[in-house]
Amino acid sequence: MARLVLKFGGTSVGDVARIRRVAERVKPLYDAGHEIAVVVSAMAGTTNQLVAYTREAALIHDAREYDTVVAAGEQITVGLLAICLQDMEVPARSFLGWQIPIHASNVHGAARIESIETETLEACFAQGRVAVVAGFQGLADDGRIATLGRGGSDTSAVALAAALKADRCDIYTDVTGVFTTDPRVEAKARKLDRITYEEMLEMASQGAKVLQTRSVAMAMAHGVRVQVLSTFADEPGTLVVSEEEIVENQIVSGIAFSRGEAKITVVNLEDRPGAVSALFKPLAGEHINVDMIVQSASDDGASADVTFTVPEDSLSRAVELIQSHKDSLGFSDLVYTGDVVKVSVIGVGMRSHAGVASTMFEALAEKGINIHVISTSEIKVSVLINSEYTELAVRTLHSAYGLDAPSRIADVEEAIA
Ligand code: ADP
Ligand code: ASP
Ligand code: MG
Repeated sequence: MARLVLKFGGTSVGDVARIRRVAERVKPLYDAGHEIAVVVSAMAGTTNQLVAYTREAALIHDAREYDTVVAAGEQITVGLLAICLQDMEVPARSFLGWQIPIHASNVHGAARIESIETETLEACFAQGRVAVVAGFQGLADDGRIATLGRGGSDTSAVALAAALKADRCDIYTDVTGVFTTDPRVEAKARKLDRITYEEMLEMASQGAKVLQTRSVAMAMAHGVRVQVLSTFADEPGTLVVSEEEIVENQIVSGIAFSRGEAKITVVNLEDRPGAVSALFKPLAGEHINVDMIVQSASDDGASADVTFTVPEDSLSRAVELIQSHKDSLGFSDLVYTGDVVKVSVIGVGMRSHAGVASTMFEALAEKGINIHVISTSEIKVSVLINSEYTELAVRTLHSAYGLDAPSRIADVEEAIA
C-alpha cells in the first residue's frame, strides 16, 4: 500500500465527462488499497474568466477580494470529482484550503504555502476515504482565502505530498510528460524519461508552464518524487529526480521560452558610481522583478545605455517610475517594447562542457535572429529576441543541440536494421 497525491490540471477536469474520467483513473488505485489525496485545478478557462471578471469590476482592486473570486473555480471541481467518485462506490469528500487548513502567507494573489495541518486528512484516510483537495488556495494568516499564483495547483499537490510524506506526487496533465521543449511549438520534441530537479526548476522558471516553478523548488527541498504524466494516455510519464539518479547527462536537455517579457533601454544614463543602483532601487521598491541586464558604455565614457527586462505586465509601471526619476537619474531617452521573448537552453551537462553558448549564438545568427540581451547561469543560457522569431528560434535550437525526435522514416529504418 502506498500513499499517493494525484493532481489533475484544468484540461483534465475541463467538463463533467472529463471529471468522470479522472474518477475512473483514481478508482483502480483506491481499489488497490492506496491512500489517496487528489488535488484538482479549476476547469480549463475558468480561472481566466474569473480574473477577467475582477478586472471588469475595477481595474485596480483589493487583492483579498480578487482571491475570493479566483479561488472559486476549484470549489466547483472538488465537489464534482467527489460526486463522481461516490457514484463509482469510492468513498470521497472534498476539502477547500481553509478546511484542512493549508496555511499560506497573506501576499494575496501570489501567496506561499507556509504549513499544512495533516490531522484532517489523516482522519480521512483512516476512514478509508479519498480526499479531494482544492488546489491553488490556502488560508492566509489574515483569516482570508489566498491564492498561490497562476498554475499554483502544482504547488498545492507537492506541498501536500511533502506534508503527508506521500510516496509519490503524480501530476496528471494534457501532455504525456516533460518534453525537450513545448510539444505544441516543436512537433519533434521528445518526452524525457527523467529530468533533474535543477533542470526542471530552470525549465519552469524560464517559461515551461508544465510545472509551476515553486512546485519544483518545493519538491527539490523536500525530496518529493514527482511524476508528470497524461490524464488521457496510459503511458509512463517523466520522473523528476536528483542528479545521482541520472546515469548519463545530456549536455542540453531542454529549450524553454517565455513570452511574457518586456525590454526597457535607458539611453545615455550618466556613467557614475550609483547610477545603476539609483535606476533599479525604485523598481525593487515596487516589487518589479528585473531579470536580464546589459550595460554598454558610450565612446565618451560619460554615459552608458542600460537595457533590461521586466515582466510584460509590469512594463507600464516600470516606465512610469523611471520617467518620474528622470531628473535625478540624468538620462536622455527611454525606449521600451513588449515584443520580445526569452529563449533558454538548459542542461546540467553544461557545467562540464564548453561551447554551449557559442552553438546557440551561431545557430541563431545563421537564421538572421538578432540577440538583444544574454544571461547565463551554471546550467542555462538565455537570450532575448524579437517575439516574431519565437518558433523559429525554438526549432532551430532544438535541432542544433540534437534534441529532435528521430523522424518516422529513421524509426522504420532502425526497426528494419
Ligand atoms: P495543467 O492545466 O494540467 O496544469 P498546463 O497548461 O499548466 O497544464 O501545463 C501543460 C502545458 O505545458 C502543455 O500543454 C504544454 O503546452 C506546456 N509545456 C510547455 N513546455 C513544456 C515542456 N517542456 N514539456 C511539456 N509541456 C510543456
Ligand atoms: N486554476 C489555477 C490557474 O488556472 C491554478 C492551476 O490551474 O494550477 O492558474
Ligand atoms: Mg498548470
